[in-house]
Amino acid sequence: MTHRVTLIPGDGIGPELAEATRHVLDASGVVLEWEIVDAGEAVMERYGTPLPEHVLESIRRNRVALKGPITTPIGEGFRSVNVGLRQALELYASLRPARSMKGLETRYEDVDLVIVRENTEDLYGGIEHRVGRDAAESIKIITREASERIARFAFEYAVANGRQRVTAVHKANIMKLSDGLFLESCRTVAAGYAGRIAFDDRIIDNMCMQLVQKPDLYDVLVLPNLYGDIVSDLAAGLVGGLGVAPGANIGNDCAVFEPVHGSAPKYAGQNRANPTALILSGALMLRHLGETAAAHRVETALREVIADGRTVTQDLGGDAGTREFGEAVAESVAGARVARA
Ligand code: NAD
Repeated sequence: MTHRVTLIPGDGIGPELAEATRHVLDASGVVLEWEIVDAGEAVMERYGTPLPEHVLESIRRNRVALKGPITTPIGEGFRSVNVGLRQALELYASLRPARSMKGLETRYEDVDLVIVRENTEDLYGGIEHRVGRDAAESIKIITREASERIARFAFEYAVANGRQRVTAVHKANIMKLSDGLFLESCRTVAAGYAGRIAFDDRIIDNMCMQLVQKPDLYDVLVLPNLYGDIVSDLAAGLVGGLGVAPGANIGNDCAVFEPVHGSAPKYAGQNRANPTALILSGALMLRHLGETAAAHRVETALREVIADGRTVTQDLGGDAGTREFGEAVAESVAGARVARA
């Protein structure tokens, strides 16, 4: 079966990472027909917007996209394309697995966390205003509908992937109404999974400390948008950093797979950045497409190349370029496919 997929290479290091990732996914044996469209800084001049309508149309048509990182100007300039995509396509769930890999120097060896972040509301609505010259207000929105929807996603993920427990993370002791509603919604959904998936909750500050000290105690975490953003970087730090942290943004109609990291402009065009996070995002995409065996082959091959340590990028202590690393993983994936046949 052929899968038609939208590919957005992105800004900065994005195009190099996308090329290496395509090479690996094409070696997996799955037939992927790539529809390449550009978004971000590079198209601003041509279209007057960093997110042209034809990009959204392509994703709506194919229902699946793989996306490189896109630059967002700080404090001025165009609005985040990443946030724009999530809102336009109602990609309400952000999924960010963080799993230890042999060969990476980290504090713990057996981290296996899945962060499920609500992607559409909380403080990300951009509802802000100045109050006079010296104060500003930002509005935090939490609804029962979005909170129950993300909690259901977390529990369904747990059921489908053989996970044992979901932990809701909040600050309901202080934000009794907004985070209180998030927690109440999670409890309501959890009741429907009683006896199958365990449920508990933690206050965000305590959760951060526990994740740093005892990450192996946790399984699937479900969080409102802002805490989810922060905790997923914390989890990425536990397993080797931003270069190896994959992600997915999932809605009812479409899904966009992308690394947690940004466009790292200082490394752009240097054949130096690590494509692992985008390759792992590609593996998540294969799983989403029902290509579980191929996804497993890609993840295993990547893990083997990293554990071997001879052909890894500079951030992992090696001297291989983005391209050479991608080629090593692609060769290993193709080898696994031939061995299986
Ligand atoms: P960043 O993730 O781009 O880079 C931070 C540092 O992490 C880099 O300097 C580099 O040392 C390291 N790094 C990140 N990815 C790496 C990789 N693949 N290989 C090796 N090292 C890597 O974060 P930033 O500098 O804060 O942001 C740069 C731009 O990216 C900003 O415009 C920001 O808005 C944007 N951004 C986009 C996304 C996205 O597209 N989803 C996410 C985060 C940031």
